[in-house]
Amino acid sequence: MCGKQAATDKLMAKISTKYVCQSCGYDAPRWMGKCPDCGGFNTFAEERVAPTPRASLGGASAARAASASASWSKPQTLSQIGAALPPRILTGVSEFDRVLGGGVVPGSLVLIGGDPGIGKSTLLIEAAVRLAQSQGSGLYLSGEESVAQISLRAERLGLVSNDLMLASETDLMAIESHIRDTRPSFAVVDSIQTVAHPGLDSAPGTLTQVREAATSLQRLAKDNGVAIFIVGHVNKEGNLAGPRALEHIVDTVLQLEGDEHGQFRILRATKNRFGSTNELGVFEMTERGMESVENPSQLFLSERQSNAPGSVVVATVEGARPLLVEVQALCAPSYFTSPRRTVTGADFNRVNVVLAVIEKRLNMRLGDMDVYVNVVGGVRVTEPALDLGIALAVISGLRDMPVPPDSCVFGEIGLAGEVRAVSHAERRAIEAARLGFERCVLPRTGLQKLSHLKNEVQLHGIVTLRAAVDALLPGALRDDGGGGAFRGKNKNVKGRQSAGQHPGQGTLENAGALGEIDESRNGDFYDNAAAPGEAEDYGPFANE
Ligand SMILES: [Zn+2]
Repeated sequence: MCGKQAATDKLMAKISTKYVCQSCGYDAPRWMGKCPDCGGFNTFAEERVAPTPRASLGGASAARAASASASWSKPQTLSQIGAALPPRILTGVSEFDRVLGGGVVPGSLVLIGGDPGIGKSTLLIEAAVRLAQSQGSGLYLSGEESVAQISLRAERLGLVSNDLMLASETDLMAIESHIRDTRPSFAVVDSIQTVAHPGLDSAPGTLTQVREAATSLQRLAKDNGVAIFIVGHVNKEGNLAGPRALEHIVDTVLQLEGDEHGQFRILRATKNRFGSTNELGVFEMTERGMESVENPSQLFLSERQSNAPGSVVVATVEGARPLLVEVQALCAPSYFTSPRRTVTGADFNRVNVVLAVIEKRLNMRLGDMDVYVNVVGGVRVTEPALDLGIALAVISGLRDMPVPPDSCVFGEIGLAGEVRAVSHAERRAIEAARLGFERCVLPRTGLQKLSHLKNEVQLHGIVTLRAAVDALLPGALRDDGGGGAFRGKNKNVKGRQSAGQHPGQGTLENAGALGEIDESRNGDFYDNAAAPGEAEDYGPFANE
């Protein structure tokens, strides 16, 4: 005891105050307004830290040092390791297992982040009860709620378990000892921001505490083969508290996203040492908690009104999972000097680019219109393949012409009005076919690779936005109150139609016949884009 006291005294002399950036961990002797490392503003908080806190925490690290040579790992062959890998444990919440990469790996540390109130605890209590049922033991440690509150929550969700133990605890030492003593097959720590090591002077939730807790739990998980889930709240900037520091420590980072008042939640992996980060889980918030949505496209489209103007179904890919979403657009006369642009669920700047392309390349005036664009269902889609859907929804809304309800689209729009290829075209087309869409309007580039799908869905390859509009909204480009230049084009459009070259009707029926694509490889494009009088709009493509 005396020796320990002396050591503590020695440390006390060295303890100093420093200011630590709560975002990246940069520390400085003085408070600073802007972090020189990560550039964050007002991110510094005062922390009293012993120079080497790890050494002063005793216990585990001292014991570890003593037995160090005994626990040094021996090199093994790849096949030896493969045979010795512990099997994954399924939580029984299918979408959760999917995002984890096919279940939980024993001994892994999983961080689940998200806004407060989004449903992290709800999701975890459900997974915990199911896991405890299948594994025989589990421990749920909450610093946010009392055990009574947790059990009430479980009761509300219809969950009962004799195998899940609950404790309300914020002391890191106590949490570690609970996990060591009860030897559960997994543990949940809700939340990392409430956990504090008594030996550290910093307040709970500061970077020093969060990092210490995560490091200790990581070691505990590895040493005991216990899977540990930690809940982390996201701060107002949308970062997990101590984001980079924490993300480095844990094995897996899952983010729960969604609109707090919306019906759906998206769980995605942003880091996964045991699986891909391409998986995406979709949940529906119901009275009985978070229900896995196995068929999200169907659900996202369930309330869709077919034949409504301004509505287009887009085949998007989130992570590696194809997802059909409905894009809605409304164009209304504006009473403001600068018209409104309101965007929900899509990237604001991309919508503005698409609107500019519509104005300039298709000569449609939007300058006196308020434009509202919404991706239905509370999903946020930021991939460029949404462009074509946004454009068609806006034009459909502007002209009050519905897009055929059996059609679905995807493609990126370039500034010259061209439609560019996007990744995972095959997955998108298959998903469209699976949900009963009969035709898919998509970038022509790479279309041949999809020829094996021609019996499932009619694929209409296009090269320009203009061609896409002609295919799905025939006649939409014809009458606009625009200037003389546009009137001149009207003639061209009509001329082409009478000549039977209009791709809207003419080619759609047989456009899907992929065998014909090679012959007509550029026909569609030149019909639409480089017709006389339009060449100036499509300058880059005018020369053959
Ligand atoms: Zn910083």
